[in-house]
Amino acid sequence: METKWLGKPEYANSDVARWREDFPALREIVHGKPLVYLDNAATTHKPLSVIEAEAAFYRRANSNVHRGVHTLSLRATDQYEEAREKVRRFINAASTREIVFVRGTTEAINLVAQCFGRPRLTELDNIIVSAMEHHSNIVPWQMVCGQTGAELRVAPVNDAGELDVEMLGRLIGPRTRLIAITHLSNALGSITPVERVIKMAHAHQVPVLLDGAQAIAHLDVDVKALGCDFYAFSGHKIYAPTGIGVLYGKETWLDAIPPYQGGGDMISSVTFGETRYNDLPYKFEAGTPNIAGAIGLGHALDYVASVGIRAIAAHERDLLEYATGLANGIRGLKIIGTAREKAGILSFTLEGLHPHDIGTILDHDGIAIRAGHHCAMPIMQRFGLASTARASFSLYNTRAEIDALMAGIARVQEMFQR
Ligand code: PMP
Repeated sequence: METKWLGKPEYANSDVARWREDFPALREIVHGKPLVYLDNAATTHKPLSVIEAEAAFYRRANSNVHRGVHTLSLRATDQYEEAREKVRRFINAASTREIVFVRGTTEAINLVAQCFGRPRLTELDNIIVSAMEHHSNIVPWQMVCGQTGAELRVAPVNDAGELDVEMLGRLIGPRTRLIAITHLSNALGSITPVERVIKMAHAHQVPVLLDGAQAIAHLDVDVKALGCDFYAFSGHKIYAPTGIGVLYGKETWLDAIPPYQGGGDMISSVTFGETRYNDLPYKFEAGTPNIAGAIGLGHALDYVASVGIRAIAAHERDLLEYATGLANGIRGLKIIGTAREKAGILSFTLEGLHPHDIGTILDHDGIAIRAGHHCAMPIMQRFGLASTARASFSLYNTRAEIDALMAGIARVQEMFQR
């Protein structure tokens, strides 16, 4: 059996210094200060190899895919399909037939909602999501429930921000058609015990979609080992360009469901009487795709594989523990999301301060964090909040940057106490 290279579990601080060299944007100066980029859950920076791969495509291979017989078109097609194979290997899918290129997580979930959900749902059926989903794993389900009369059930999370798996189990009924949950919450950092959820769901013959937008860059994702039915992620959260993402689907499902959009490339033959659809995965890729983006994604996955997802996870765990320890020592600071299983996201509030003020003042020190509802308004409401400030870590962040964040927070508090 093919085994996946996970990289060495250990890393050294000198490794991080070397990794930083690969990301040109980290050398930016913001308001006269070196950039401290702690907004990686929103999007990550790109290594030079990705930037250059995109540019090289436009310089030397720019052409449309799957169409021409000329050399550049063949080059473009080879590189695009090579990227698909890199994705397959990275998530350990059985076949490239299971790898559909889409714009991102949002499009992947909308595709499943409309192609898998809509034909299967009636007013007797239901779909289950969790209370800590991103809007892109809520709204597409609300839309399809509106179209079909199906019910959207919501599994609760506890005060630490952990999914209540037992309660989720109680929501599963004979007419549950799908469970769609996040693998890693962007608002709280909680890692969902997806293995348990999948086992429970499959015991009831209920398929599971995982929103892997965050997890893909921080956890070892192996769709075969997980056994999930669908897995969605965005390239830009894992050091790849924007506008490219992946829907993984088990071949049996993708075969069984109709196409999402109609157009070029998704057909094998067209007459005005009848259209026959193309094979997988092309059935789901209507129109000219984001060829350069897919190639960039392939190079980003190469980059992550060369560092090793285990080394990345170990480094980010160290950053999270260090940041959590310091944050707990700050008076008036409250961490939102204290799950036992957590990845590099520190969501917090400061007593008496609006998260937008925190974010704006930190920006003057060159420190980039996110302030807002993180496109997850229901989980904010669950914690009685409108918004939080959020620092999110990546392989290129350092303890020194966390020190800068904490010093920045102290300055914010001083300014508002005066
Ligand atoms: N799900 C989660 C958990 C996310 O963090 C995000 C992005 N913030 C999305 C879905 C949507 O991803 P995209 O905007 O790239 O489609």
